[in-house]
Amino acid sequence: LRTEHVEILIIGAGPAGSVAAGLLRKQGREVLMLEKEQFPRFSIGESLLPQSMEYIQEAGMLQAVVEAGFQYKNGAAFARGGHRTQFDFRDKFSKGWGTTYQVQRADFDKVLADEAERLGAAVRYRHEVLAVDVDGDQPRVTVRSPDGETYEVQARFLLDASGFARILPRLLKLESPSGFPARGAIFTHVRDNIPPGSPAFDRNKILISVHPRHDDVWYWTIPFSNGRCSLGVVAETKYLEQYAGTETERLKAIVGEDPDLAGLLAKADWDTPARQIVGYSANVKSLWGKNYALLGNAGEFLDPVFSSGVTIAFKSASLASACLQRQFAGETVDWEADYGRPLRAGVDTFRCFVEAWYAGGFQKIIFHPNPTPDIRRMICSILAGYAWDTSNPYVAENKRRLAVLEQLCSA
Ligand code: FAD
Repeated sequence: LRTEHVEILIIGAGPAGSVAAGLLRKQGREVLMLEKEQFPRFSIGESLLPQSMEYIQEAGMLQAVVEAGFQYKNGAAFARGGHRTQFDFRDKFSKGWGTTYQVQRADFDKVLADEAERLGAAVRYRHEVLAVDVDGDQPRVTVRSPDGETYEVQARFLLDASGFARILPRLLKLESPSGFPARGAIFTHVRDNIPPGSPAFDRNKILISVHPRHDDVWYWTIPFSNGRCSLGVVAETKYLEQYAGTETERLKAIVGEDPDLAGLLAKADWDTPARQIVGYSANVKSLWGKNYALLGNAGEFLDPVFSSGVTIAFKSASLASACLQRQFAGETVDWEADYGRPLRAGVDTFRCFVEAWYAGGFQKIIFHPNPTPDIRRMICSILAGYAWDTSNPYVAENKRRLAVLEQLCSA
């Protein structure tokens, strides 16, 4: 087999891969990014958090993202049985960006990958990684090119940013259970035809609607800048299995159970077949190994409820590239201390909130009629993605603080 040599090889050109490529190019590293698909391609995960803007900026990709014309986003709205509450991300405890975007991922991921290329990374589409060998001095991967040629790439360092494909966790048997029950989502894009200025729908916010009878079933409505919305429902797979028919018929039936959401979408044009994804929560025994690290979803994926996936993917890219900068400068890097643990710290903050969401406690907190403004700003920070800001008590002591607050809100 023909063998190529590069400094850094990245598997996958999703948000994690492209931002890592940009950051590493800014350090002057030689980067090759291999992507199985032809871009633009569909992906789920469309509502960004303000914290993610910091990493887009750090990677030198901010102008391109701003100029792409995505839907401006300044917060999150929640609805349950006629009650509504909303958070404005600009009014939050942590410093940093208070606004972001809601993005069609086909376009967004293409913008980021093009930016990685502009910064000097080599990007090859329709090159699929088939096998990985990390036992030698340097990692080697086997790749199939679009014309069917198989070749090898040897790299000084390998970043797995393959998302739900989870190339390294699967091939190296690093997978571990996620701890969450098996949930799934059914989703589509619609032309929403919601009248402009409708009081029930602020296009600058994601809308999360809780099912009127089941607290652990929820819907997302994510407006885009072109009059369309991403619409989806999340529930345990056994709940979704009750609904027969095409994915579109099933999604319509479940949306029909929430009169407020069904009313909001009464004039929607369902022009795109819905899809289902199940069992997406995943974890790994280790986020790194000899000359490799796992980024984004290739590492851990929790749950979509707080739209944290892309932010975590970017954070992993940022931490890993900082470690690589030191490693290439000749320092010995402790990847557990400087990559695995700091990444997991924020993921664990989100986990605590995700658990509280499904147990119902977090809903008691956000729908409480008399919230304390300072506490609400701290909660708002988490919803804006600032899950690594340990000056926020709801980060530093997340479990204890949430439990106390839940009790206060239940009284
Ligand atoms: P990906 O975006 O999945 O990119 C991985 C890339 O690797 C893909 O382009 C793939 O083609 C490529 N690849 C795979 N295998 C190979 C191979 N063998 N060789 C070469 N290339 C390969 N996140 C949010 O931030 N906001 C949301 O609102 C949100 N909603 C979600 C809703 C649902 C139902 C789900 C399941 C997830 C949601 N997420 C959301 C999470 C989000 O989708 C992911 O966290 C995010 O896409 C992870 O980015 P990534 O770069 O790690 O992986």
